[in-house]
Amino acid sequence: MKERLLPYLACPSCGGVIRLLSVARRDGTEVIEGDLDCETCARHFPIVRGVPRFASLDQIEADKAATAENFGFSWQHFTQEDERYAEQFLGWLTPVRPEFFRDQVVLEGGCGKGRHTRLAAEWGARDVIAVDLSAAVEVAHAATRELENAHVIQADLYHLPLRRAFDYAFSVGVLHHLPEPRGGFLSLASKVKAGGHVSAWVYGAENNGWITRFVNPLREKVTARINPRALLQLSKLPTVALYAATKLVYGPLNRSAGGANLARKLFYNDYLKAISDFGWREQHTIVFDHLVAPTAFYLSREEFAEWWQAVGASDVVISWHNRNSWCGMGRIT
Ligand SMILES: [Zn+2]
Repeated sequence: MKERLLPYLACPSCGGVIRLLSVARRDGTEVIEGDLDCETCARHFPIVRGVPRFASLDQIEADKAATAENFGFSWQHFTQEDERYAEQFLGWLTPVRPEFFRDQVVLEGGCGKGRHTRLAAEWGARDVIAVDLSAAVEVAHAATRELENAHVIQADLYHLPLRRAFDYAFSVGVLHHLPEPRGGFLSLASKVKAGGHVSAWVYGAENNGWITRFVNPLREKVTARINPRALLQLSKLPTVALYAATKLVYGPLNRSAGGANLARKLFYNDYLKAISDFGWREQHTIVFDHLVAPTAFYLSREEFAEWWQAVGASDVVISWHNRNSWCGMGRIT
């Protein structure tokens, strides 16, 4: 934890000022082990391995803990870097561009292993505060600790230990895994100052009927309940099918002059075309993540649009991403 994080923090219980009470170990500007406390209610929050801990998995509701634990495993296992991340990230943030981040104070709701935290920090954000509930904060911290403007905290999205001090908040691929996605979105948006912006990307209900009908029951009854290590091996089977389909059919057909028209008629073409140049590991991550999640909601455009009304956002842009998910961006008034 860097001390420049402190002014952004607020007690998740009472909203009081958080101060650095003690430092047991420091490494340059980084507090590795120490203790934070609330000036008002005196609650303590430890700093462990460089990460301030405002929530621990054993103290939160079982369904949230299960999601965080399973994704934490995924994010700790799949730590590959990929240059396509930036392009993919910008797709989810449509219409935001890298220059939008310059000098902004940014909140990331659900950072996983921190790959977007890194990009936001590198694109010139004044500070990026990345929040995650899972053990992935360890990976995210390691991935971003040398960046002076990147901060990772372990906290519950519903009880953010933060002031309303942000110019921009985003959450990609996380809200639909919360037990109550809309509540997570409202909590995130509540930390953005008037005139600031919010972005969110969620799974869509439209075009995903086959997932809700066939994959969801399998996920809920079987795959999210088995040991993630066993699932990691088991999930290679559907990945073989996906990999073969994208490499042998969707990719070549979409790239060929005569094939693109035919490809458009294929099942789930926009999405499979988009991931057709991903490598094996990246595709395995996608399959694994879809099977490991104990909770996953697929939201209709109507439901998603209502979130933006609920936070009173203006200039809202909602776009259909790969014809299977929703990106939203709006201004907090
Ligand atoms: Zn307090």
